[in-house]
Amino acid sequence: MADARGLVLVVEDEPAIADVVRLNLAKAGYGVHVQHDGAQALADVRRLRPAAIILDVGLPGMDGIEICRALRAGEDWTPVLFVTARDDEVDRIIGLELGADDYVTKPFSPRELVARVGGVLRRTKGVPGVAPQTVGALTIDAGQRRTYAGEREFALTATEFDLLAHLMRRPGQVFTREQLLSEVWGYSSVAGTRTVDVHIAQLRAKLGATSPIRTVRGVGYAAESQ
Ligand code: CA
Repeated sequence: MADARGLVLVVEDEPAIADVVRLNLAKAGYGVHVQHDGAQALADVRRLRPAAIILDVGLPGMDGIEICRALRAGEDWTPVLFVTARDDEVDRIIGLELGADDYVTKPFSPRELVARVGGVLRRTKGVPGVAPQTVGALTIDAGQRRTYAGEREFALTATEFDLLAHLMRRPGQVFTREQLLSEVWGYSSVAGTRTVDVHIAQLRAKLGATSPIRTVRGVGYAAESQ
């Protein structure tokens, strides 16, 4: 998949720079969404839930610093890599303690920027490039290892979490018990498939009505909106 490493939101008002960044990120295996307008960027973050944001400081509508401040005020810790036009802006970004994860100064090499994005994703807690997945009312965040529906958070064991994450990563895809055993537990055994059923039952008991797990009779399980 083209966006196997996660979606990067690029907020940049200069089309030539946005194009170069987009092409280089795509070549490196990231999904990319470009937004030229600062005022639209916050809505994009909420809608797309990117794995990381590349944020130009000078933008029409709302500047990069205001966008980052608004995100952090709302407890949104999506990694932010600032792109600045001037060295003195770097001091300002650091001084404001915006919770920026890194920055580059224009002109920058696209290869350097891609490397920085990879670094930011590795350093920020969690699995690199795995954006939270939502199926129906339920969201699973593999980076923070959280499972929630609105305000309600579910306490899952590590195995329950990994099993649910595996199903929710590919909504609608039906997995056999053997596949789940091999891909989640890492071993294959026909006798062990009962283990899968037990964990599915426990997940359903914990998740109640928000459970996205469907039994496909004679085949296995899939996660989909009920
Ligand atoms: Ca700009």
